[in-house]
Amino acid sequence: MGVDRLLFGPPQKATVSVERVRTGQTCPACGSSDVARYPVANFLGPRMVVKCQDCFENLETTVPTADDHWPPWASATSDWPASRNG
Ligand SMILES: [Zn+2]
Repeated sequence: MGVDRLLFGPPQKATVSVERVRTGQTCPACGSSDVARYPVANFLGPRMVVKCQDCFENLETTVPTADDHWPPWASATSDWPASRNG
């Protein structure tokens, strides 16, 4: 984990958004090729999802890796292994 995940300044733009990276997959529900991977915060916590942008069919939900930089405000110990005490 780099220092950039611990020290970050306020947003420089008026709005905050995330980049939706196209995956090149085809949606199994509607056949659209507009499928993207991007970070979300849902009831499970921070996750990376792959979703159809036309019908919002969820193709995949995964735990973010360090390369995903999500969430940007993760604690310094977030990637440490948990002890038996939790
Ligand atoms: Zn779809």
